[in-house]
Amino acid sequence: MSDDTDIEALLEEALEVGRAAAGAGEVAHYIPELAKSDPSHVGIAIATVDGGRYEVGDARVPFTFQSVSKVFSLALVLREHGPEVLDEMACEPSGDAFHSIVRLEEEQGRPRNPYINAGAILVSGLLPGGDPVAKVASLQSFLGEVGDGAEFRVDDEVFNSEVETGYRNRALANYLRHFGLLDDPQQAVETYFRQCSISLDAVRLARIGLFLANRGVDPVSGETVLARADNRVLVSQMAMCGLYDDVGRFAIDVGVPAKSGVSGAILAVVPDRMSITAFGPALGPKGNSTAALAALAHLSRRLDLSLY
Ligand code: GLU
Repeated sequence: MSDDTDIEALLEEALEVGRAAAGAGEVAHYIPELAKSDPSHVGIAIATVDGGRYEVGDARVPFTFQSVSKVFSLALVLREHGPEVLDEMACEPSGDAFHSIVRLEEEQGRPRNPYINAGAILVSGLLPGGDPVAKVASLQSFLGEVGDGAEFRVDDEVFNSEVETGYRNRALANYLRHFGLLDDPQQAVETYFRQCSISLDAVRLARIGLFLANRGVDPVSGETVLARADNRVLVSQMAMCGLYDDVGRFAIDVGVPAKSGVSGAILAVVPDRMSITAFGPALGPKGNSTAALAALAHLSRRLDLSLY
């Protein structure tokens, strides 16, 4: 990588590219609280495995975890329960939207992958703890562990907004229950809503994603967060299933594993090099941030990040 001044100049460039693309999107409305986000916000943060930290624009504007949380809940569940967890679901790209229900009927309730809502709700139900608050508390403390001891609080407004409107996710959980994959659908879905409502920002998200880029070892503390094989699951599933039904296009344009969420964040992982968060609440037709997609494509070209 070039020196710090070059990276900072490049980030400014990527920010402008992101800002220009933000106008092409719209904030998510189906969770009413998310509709209040400012569509003009754009921020980028980078954490490198060798200690570099860079940020530009609205990198400290808070947003909620949403679907990006699915990577971290799966990390904790793999660590607690081992890879057998994956016997309950497939690990294939769905080609469907994140909240799709169609294949559950065709495939006897078996989620297509851990990052589609059905799979993620199943994983949430397996988080350690006796109830949704305790389960998400275990996730929050895991985030502190990989995030320099920071506190990660739940945004109650977003949580209540999801509880009030999340009928489709409840339907998914009930489907899983019907097919015997979940014991307590109510608890699993409430845990899922709560983990999606954890508040963070681009700087923090890049930091907690750093172990993913470093084969399961936190390069700051030197601690092994996850077994190498489990980390491979998380990151390869990001590459296959991390961008909803836009994952193929993202592989062409950016070419690294990533996970996006409807609050407008995309966490991208460049193995052995860095984690990058690009954030902008305005979403395109497939539910991905238009600003983040454009900024990441720009960074990928300029820093030669694509694995392909
Ligand atoms: N809480 C959101 C939902 O399930 C997360 C969706 C997403 O970020 O893709 O509807």
